[in-house]
Amino acid sequence: MATKTALVTGSSRGIGRGTAVELARAGTRIAINYAGNAEAANETLALVRAAGGDGFTLQGDVAVAADRERLVAETVARFGRIDLLVNNAGVAPKVRADLLDAGEESFDRLFAINLKGPFFLSQLAAKQMLRQEPDAEGFRGRIVNITSISVYTASVNRGDYCMVKAGLAMMTKLFADRLARDGINVYEIRPGVIATDMTGAVKEKYDKLILQDQPGITPIRRWGQPSDIGRAVRAILEDRFPFSTGAVFDVDGGFHLHRL
Ligand code: NAP
Repeated sequence: MATKTALVTGSSRGIGRGTAVELARAGTRIAINYAGNAEAANETLALVRAAGGDGFTLQGDVAVAADRERLVAETVARFGRIDLLVNNAGVAPKVRADLLDAGEESFDRLFAINLKGPFFLSQLAAKQMLRQEPDAEGFRGRIVNITSISVYTASVNRGDYCMVKAGLAMMTKLFADRLARDGINVYEIRPGVIATDMTGAVKEKYDKLILQDQPGITPIRRWGQPSDIGRAVRAILEDRFPFSTGAVFDVDGGFHLHRL
């Protein structure tokens, strides 16, 4: 495979880091975006290099228009093109509030980071992909959105999170439809419960639900790891699904199965 380039939002930690490292195993050059944690981003860069890739760290808040412009411009300045955008950066509510008490501030924050950011960043990246010629393998670009089982699972103590993730699922379909004519495929990866800082605060709850309860919430009885998501993203960058777009990949230990 020709050397590919990727912009992975929120890759200083967690799923984004796991994705960057898996992409690096395919020799990818990666723009490692982060919001504020430069030290963690540098750690990701070291891991990327150790795994056989390369790249650079790139601060930027996906919720801010000027930052999104800069993310795309700097990635193109360094690499000349963007073969893959991974919309991974995302946040959970700071406080899990009952649906009847949930506030506007949390709603606006989640909407801005988890949905508005990916939408307008995808616009910019798609326009860049349209400007660039297909590479030697005929590859023009791919976009991956990291959603959640919250797309279809109601959690009444974080309704804002569920609603924006459901919006991101629809966004995948919209971009997939619009960009198919231009040779750009768009995919949704829907993680289950993954061991990261985001789920650290509720670790005991999920330990019980996954490992102790009989039956547990997932047929595959273990926590998901960031590398589980990264391997799926890598398969997309390696173009293993050329005749699929708008597809949803459940990377969730089987959580989505209805069981009796
Ligand atoms: P995490 O460990 O909390 O890491 C979040 C990452 O996003 C960090 O790199 C952070 O950068 C970055 N970030 C946060 N706000 C940002 C902003 N405004 N602009 C740019 N980057 C920003 O989270 P995670 O668990 O890996 O989650 C990653 C994605 O997967 C999220 O979209 C999340 O909703 C989704 N997801 C997670 C799980 C799970 O179980 N963990 C399940 C389903 C879906 P800094 O390091 O600079 O703060």
